[in-house]
Amino acid sequence: MATAASVTGLVTWARSLVRSPGRLSLAGPRPEAATIPVNRSLRDHGNGLGRGARGGGGSGSLVAGRHGGAAAAAVAVAPAPALSVMRRSSSEESEARWMADAAAETGEQLGVDAGAAGDPELPEPEEQPKAVGGTPTPARRRAPEEGDGRVVRRLPPALPLAPPRPAARALSQLVKSRGWNRGRAYRRNSGSVRPVTVDSSKARTSLDALKISLRQLRWKEFPFGRRLPCDIYWHGVSFHDNDILSGQVNKFPGMTEMVRKITLSKALRIMQSLFPEEYNFYPRSWILPEEFQLFVAQVQTVKDGDPSWRPTFIVKPDSGCQGDGIYLIRDPCDGRLTGTLHNRPAVVQEYIRKPLLIDKLKFDIRLYVLLKSLDPLEIYIAKDGLSRFCTEPYQEPNLQNLHHVFMHLTNYSLNIHSGKFVHSDSASTGSKRTFSSILCRLSSKGVDIKKVWSDIISLVIKTVIALTPELKVFYQSDIPTGRPGPTCFQILGFDILLMKNLKPMLLEVNANPSMRIEHEYELSPGVFENIPSLVDEEVKVAVIRDTLRLMDPLKKKKEIQSQQTEKSFTSKEDLNCELTGGDSEPNPEAHLPSICLKQVFPKYAKQFNYLRLVDRMANLFIRFLGIKGTMKLGPTGFRTFIRNCKLSSSSLSMAAVDILYIDITRRWNSVALDQRDTGMCLQAFVEAFFFLAQRKFKLQPLHEQVASLIDLCEYHLSLLDEKRLLCRGGRPHQRNPPQMNRTAHSAAGSSAPRVIGASKLSHS
Ligand code: ADP
Repeated sequence: MATAASVTGLVTWARSLVRSPGRLSLAGPRPEAATIPVNRSLRDHGNGLGRGARGGGGSGSLVAGRHGGAAAAAVAVAPAPALSVMRRSSSEESEARWMADAAAETGEQLGVDAGAAGDPELPEPEEQPKAVGGTPTPARRRAPEEGDGRVVRRLPPALPLAPPRPAARALSQLVKSRGWNRGRAYRRNSGSVRPVTVDSSKARTSLDALKISLRQLRWKEFPFGRRLPCDIYWHGVSFHDNDILSGQVNKFPGMTEMVRKITLSKALRIMQSLFPEEYNFYPRSWILPEEFQLFVAQVQTVKDGDPSWRPTFIVKPDSGCQGDGIYLIRDPCDGRLTGTLHNRPAVVQEYIRKPLLIDKLKFDIRLYVLLKSLDPLEIYIAKDGLSRFCTEPYQEPNLQNLHHVFMHLTNYSLNIHSGKFVHSDSASTGSKRTFSSILCRLSSKGVDIKKVWSDIISLVIKTVIALTPELKVFYQSDIPTGRPGPTCFQILGFDILLMKNLKPMLLEVNANPSMRIEHEYELSPGVFENIPSLVDEEVKVAVIRDTLRLMDPLKKKKEIQSQQTEKSFTSKEDLNCELTGGDSEPNPEAHLPSICLKQVFPKYAKQFNYLRLVDRMANLFIRFLGIKGTMKLGPTGFRTFIRNCKLSSSSLSMAAVDILYIDITRRWNSVALDQRDTGMCLQAFVEAFFFLAQRKFKLQPLHEQVASLIDLCEYHLSLLDEKRLLCRGGRPHQRNPPQMNRTAHSAAGSSAPRVIGASKLSHS
């Protein structure tokens, strides 16, 4: 579509409307519109995994039925843009403009640069976009496993590439005269010309959005893979989709496991025990079946203290997605819970009874977060996301409405089957809207949206900090030091609920957020058409495209080169000239909108580094793992850790250390889902570490005890490293012993985690 994505896109879009009021249409009929078979069964919209038709939800499930019969006819569907123009009234125009200003302002407060205001305007179409290689992109036939239905499907349009204005036209002529763009999307790099290559053969449901992004970037796509290595591999599901030995891949090993409901709850619980105030954005949760008794007992205790307390709980199967198998209960002794206990692991969670409502409807926010690098930690957040609405007016849960799925669950994949689902091409109406449109609406009601945004950013950073320790363990296991392997990045989908008091609460994290840019429309009973969803396209294409821009291997190379040349320049002007390419190299991204992903870490590292205690523990853990590829610490490794860190004493004998190891490891392994490896997992190590810290540094808050012990361990290990270095003829550094009596502030204000054993993870 002709709009750029996200907040910046809104500015651009609004401006282009003002500039040429007669041109309200998007790119004309799609050159690549094609009739190809697609699956009639339900597609996933939650995690990117294709799934079959949904059943009735099973026993006690709230999950809605598939069709809704007449309901489908009531669905208000916008005509496919290939056949129509997208119209916006003048009031919508001014709303969009105003909205963009508000969002840009928000960014300012958050430290996000105010690039929105200065975005280059989007070009208008001058020529039909070509696929890399100069020929129009052929419509892709879906792989057989993706569908066998016979329905019409239109692919979404590409963003027009040719610049409209004289300056831009001059630029395009310059590019042509230099032979940059002779049909092929090649880039110049130190004399050699080659495009960035992307293997999209495993992209699955994100393929359409990826194709558009690659076309906009003028990169080279390999839809069927390539014999030679590619720069980037785009996987639809997991790191292991392909065997890759080099380049970059858009998945981290272990991410899918880490964001499962139980693992995420456990990771956040560790952080809650260290920093209860900072991690109160995740509802209190219990893991079933192992914590069922604890759940019953704790609820009873609170009820005894406050008989007027009438809680509601939401039960979510660990392996579920898209609202599958979810149900609400009022009483821990509810019969359905007993069924779940016997069937499958789940998380039971306090239900947030007072969500913020818009148009009397509950909604949640899907935000896209890029984990660009694990070590050093680099996090980006997309400036815009999606808001998914319920389709039945919200009421606080009571026994009568507890099973009303369209009232309580915001999942798109469920509500699309409600007769009241509203498809809209406008970003600010309908059952799926952009998050920026919600912010604007809130702002117009006097809400401090800057505070909302900064609370969300804080939630995202804290959540990623909770996930990274175990991700590092997965990473070193899959890509051990010294062995060839790709570097990783990943787009995560954060599902966030705003409470009535505007506090953001984390619902879940998706490792494979849906990147579909189309939705199903039931033409007649059983006959479906996939039509482009402009709101999805606006947000998702920008996220993919700008992720690729940030990961651009040629840009990285150039940055390194310019850092090297920096030294050989004497004057600042010379340096600037070199970095910008002087007169000779126009910006190859000049035709693109400004990047919609904004760095939040390390940008705000100072405020959050004190939380990274478990990260530092993970570095210690990895150092003592020993065998390459393992994820669990053996008894010898644990003993070596105790010895090297000088933790044994007269009050903690090595025999006691062995008992500690056996005790904790056995308990963790009895509840572990994955029992393939024996030994101590990271979470068990963390528990042992807490125990040791509490023994050694009594009378301090837990996080201070733990921070003190980490300091001590790191100190002894660095001495050991220096000794080893000396033996090899190196020169030691002067080290000061750690301060044992940390104040809360010094513990909190410590610098970035020191990497001792995890330097192998460094890949940025
Ligand atoms: P799934 O992976 O199946 O989508 P979620 O955890 O996202 O599972 O929950 C599905 C929906 O249920 C959410 O989109 C949200 O609307 C609702 N929900 C989940 N947890 C809570 C909660 N603690 N309080 C209120 N609503 C919730």
